[in-house]
Amino acid sequence: MTRTVWDEIIRDSLEKRPNETCGLLSGRNGSAQTVWRMENTLKSPVAFAMDPKQIQHVFHEMALRGEHLVGIYHSHPTAPPIPSPEDIAYCRYPEVAYLIVSLASPQPVLGCFRIEGSFARMYPYTVRN
Ligand SMILES: [Zn+2]
Repeated sequence: MTRTVWDEIIRDSLEKRPNETCGLLSGRNGSAQTVWRMENTLKSPVAFAMDPKQIQHVFHEMALRGEHLVGIYHSHPTAPPIPSPEDIAYCRYPEVAYLIVSLASPQPVLGCFRIEGSFARMYPYTVRN
């Protein structure tokens, strides 16, 4: 991902606190270039859900840019940056990176995973300028 994408995800997470935020990342060749902030329809500090209509709209906008979905992110305002059992159970996009921003410590921490079935495994990422 780019430094701009990283900054935007952290900023979104801080702005939505104490609730969880969520969003989509698009780009080319598996690299995230664009952040799509999504509404957390649950407005909850411990869960998130996206509006299917908004997802549809954003997928359309991505296609117009010639980009595709490469990642999905959400925040954990008070929990560590690892997927909860609910995150794993409700993950609809197993083929993309699954990012979690934890705000539990003074410095935001980003965890990146691939979720396959009922397993989450670490998925290395790099931030470039
Ligand atoms: Zn979560």
